[in-house]
Amino acid sequence: MIIVMKHNASKEEIDALTSHLTSCGYRLTISEGVERTVIGAIGDESLLKGKQVQTFSGVDEIIPISKPYKLVSREFKKEDTVIDVKGVKIGGKELAVMSGPCSVESLEQARIVAMRTSAKGSRILRGGAYKPRTSPYSFQGMGPEGLIYLRKAADEFGMVVVTELTDPRDIEIVSEYADILQIGARNMQNFRLLHEVGAQEKPVLLKRGMSATIKEFLLAAEHIAKEGNSNIILCERGIRTFETYTRNTLDLAAVPAIKNLSHLPVIVDPSHGTGRIECIGPMALASVAAGADGLMIEVHPNPDEALSDGDQSLTPDQYEEVMEKVEIIAKAVGKEIAK
Ligand code: PEP
Ligand code: MN
Repeated sequence: MIIVMKHNASKEEIDALTSHLTSCGYRLTISEGVERTVIGAIGDESLLKGKQVQTFSGVDEIIPISKPYKLVSREFKKEDTVIDVKGVKIGGKELAVMSGPCSVESLEQARIVAMRTSAKGSRILRGGAYKPRTSPYSFQGMGPEGLIYLRKAADEFGMVVVTELTDPRDIEIVSEYADILQIGARNMQNFRLLHEVGAQEKPVLLKRGMSATIKEFLLAAEHIAKEGNSNIILCERGIRTFETYTRNTLDLAAVPAIKNLSHLPVIVDPSHGTGRIECIGPMALASVAAGADGLMIEVHPNPDEALSDGDQSLTPDQYEEVMEKVEIIAKAVGKEIAK
């Protein structure tokens, strides 16, 4: 529920209410406005120990949160969430660009991509070490060795690391090297995994499941937030439709729709979203124009030899070209790429 306090409510009245709610297991966000204080409260009403919120003095209005997802909803928190990852901001005025290979293949490969993309404003290096592959015979990732290479390359060029976690049993090793834990499309509804990343402190990049509705996507984020971690970045990466020419159908309308429903930052991955080189640049531009807080783009020094997703990986030169245009669109919508 959202509790709107009277404009003359005293600090004592507010404290009495918030400590009662906290003692009943409620999670609160308190916004102290110039006019009045507004309290967002999530919890189980049956635990209110007989003392209902409306009986507290100083309470003006109680508005129930109508959506099934609560903590991640815009009703619960009006302001945009800005996530700070070692000084790299995701969700504010800066456009967060995450780039790198689909899979980490060697230190040299990760270094080249980190060098070239960081020079163009990417401050977040991506790369998979544990790969969720459709075929069990495809390259499954380098595992811990890949994590080490990714970290080394990122550190050398002042970047932070995002990499996928596919199994709760790997959370310790992945967290040792990563700054942001990625939950892939295939695991968006792996609830045990969601609870695991919700119960730790690193920010989580949650990708939309390939057949997930926006409501299911936000409920998956709610599973993470309910465990205590609200530092969640949502990533639109295309959904399955009848169209097969593109790998997925990039649902760009999801960006403004989700930003209206939720306070969480939303980024777009046009690489997995389209699977086609000629679509990645234009869809990156369209994503920024649609209000995305960031991009995730696959870049490989030699896409023809990539061990995964070479068909949708940009060369560093192609990436540079795309980023030059992205910069112009970002400026037009009041965002800037941090250098
Ligand atoms: C990825 O980003 O490497 C990936 C596998 O993406 P998705 O989960 O969106 O398919
Ligand atoms: Mn990939």
